[in-house]
Amino acid sequence: MHGAVIYAPGDVRYEERPEPVILDPTDAIVRTVAACVCGSDLWRYRGIAPVPEPTPIGHEFCGVVTAVGDAVTTVKPGDFVVGGFNPSDNTCTVCRKGAHANCVNGDHYDGAQAEQIRIPQADGTLVATPTMPDDDLIPSLLTLSDVMCTGWHAAVSAGVGPGKSVAVVGDGAVGLCAVLASVQLGASMVIAMSRHADRQRIAREFGATHIVAERDEAGIAAIRELTDGIGADCVLECVGTEAARMQAIGAVRDGGNVGLVGVPHGDLPVNELFWRNVGIKGGPAHCRAYLPELMDAVLARSINPGLVFDLELPLAEVAEAYAAMDSRRAIKSLLRP
Ligand SMILES: [Zn+2]
Repeated sequence: MHGAVIYAPGDVRYEERPEPVILDPTDAIVRTVAACVCGSDLWRYRGIAPVPEPTPIGHEFCGVVTAVGDAVTTVKPGDFVVGGFNPSDNTCTVCRKGAHANCVNGDHYDGAQAEQIRIPQADGTLVATPTMPDDDLIPSLLTLSDVMCTGWHAAVSAGVGPGKSVAVVGDGAVGLCAVLASVQLGASMVIAMSRHADRQRIAREFGATHIVAERDEAGIAAIRELTDGIGADCVLECVGTEAARMQAIGAVRDGGNVGLVGVPHGDLPVNELFWRNVGIKGGPAHCRAYLPELMDAVLARSINPGLVFDLELPLAEVAEAYAAMDSRRAIKSLLRP
């Protein structure tokens, strides 16, 4: 079978890889229907995170189960499934508290930008649709393996709920999904920070009530002006750079909460957070906790997070999928084997 392997910054290749096989009785094998490139994959592509050796890459997928290990009971060959980017058993003491990203038996995929994927902890990780989904739902279902759950996690972590004002820092796929999540969770004001017309349009479609195009001090001032001069109740930081986090801390009101889902680079001003009573929470999304509810919403066509994909390519053209996102020609690239 074929899949993507990152060799070095800027060098992702589509090449022959070994067929995945069941290694543990809790494994399943999935034939990929769609996969995609994550903003976090770009950290290595851009040379910000190291690539010590050629490594299969990718952690977002949906597909059809082709084989299961002896211990797997909740999915079977033929099922259409989505799995979160962080495999979890869904049964350990930590998972039972809803913190699936920190599962004590957590695992990872050996490169999901591939024709086939070995799924560890298949019972806990995979969620099957009741029937084979319509093809036009594939992009939205695919977002549930990462970006939609991550945007949801940002909102949940910051305590978004009815009547809250929310500002979202970052207009990538996760930021846009965080806008959608905030609207779904009942926020009365959802401010998307974006300078790009195409991304502003998706934010509006997801229900953003306001757009702030300014950045830095001007961006903070614009958000304060919209929020009685004090800042937003909840700010969702969906980038991970120090500049984005300072933007988020500047835009939140005293006593408010920041949800962090961008992989952090740089530090946090803990003294300022203390004196301003600002709460910080976040991390990798508990995908498995959110997946069933969000899958129901996608299948009922009440949310359409698949709008974040603005480029679709054959999996064989994975190198171009990375290049397009790296140069911001694409928000997010969907790949089909
Ligand atoms: Zn667990």
